[in-house]
Amino acid sequence: MTKVLQRPTLILNRNWQPVNVATVARALVLLWNESARVVYPADYQLYAWADWSKLRPRDGEDSIRAVRFRLRVPEVVALSGYDRLPVAHVTFSRRNIFKRDHYTCQYCGAQPGSEELTLDHVVPRSQGGVSSWENCVLACMACNKRKADRTPEQARMRVRKQPVRPAWKPLYADHELRIESWSKFISEAYWNVTLRE
Ligand SMILES: [Zn+2]
Repeated sequence: MTKVLQRPTLILNRNWQPVNVATVARALVLLWNESARVVYPADYQLYAWADWSKLRPRDGEDSIRAVRFRLRVPEVVALSGYDRLPVAHVTFSRRNIFKRDHYTCQYCGAQPGSEELTLDHVVPRSQGGVSSWENCVLACMACNKRKADRTPEQARMRVRKQPVRPAWKPLYADHELRIESWSKFISEAYWNVTLRE
């Protein structure tokens, strides 16, 4: 039971944007005091505590054993009164850019290892490009050399994927347990994330 209660639950805000990861224990408290409702990932149905506590776990499904009954384990809950996004962003750092770009050159797709990858300013600094999530990508030595002090257009190269701030990443990246149903909510937020700077 303790193990189940320590499992991660994805916390969404009122607009169903992921804002945090909390333990199942914490999610149940939010549910119980009506600050949040369970989102059932299969059909997106919402359950308040009163309804959720009436559901019985299916055979073979993990559950929480209370004194007189067993509870289903919520995987996603949505807060009722909170519509902001988390203030904390992923730190703009070398390490996190490597993570975001999966150690892959964003021009040719090579994965030569971190020693052979460089940080490339898509719009070069000499042309007013800034150091930001949206203007920095990984490039292998060869691509970096080829592109030199030019924009991709000028160099006739293509960035494989529009670089964005990975707002969703720290939410679940640190958890070993990947919950399949979360991807529905996390990818949604990822594509809708507002670009800043
Ligand atoms: Zn390359």
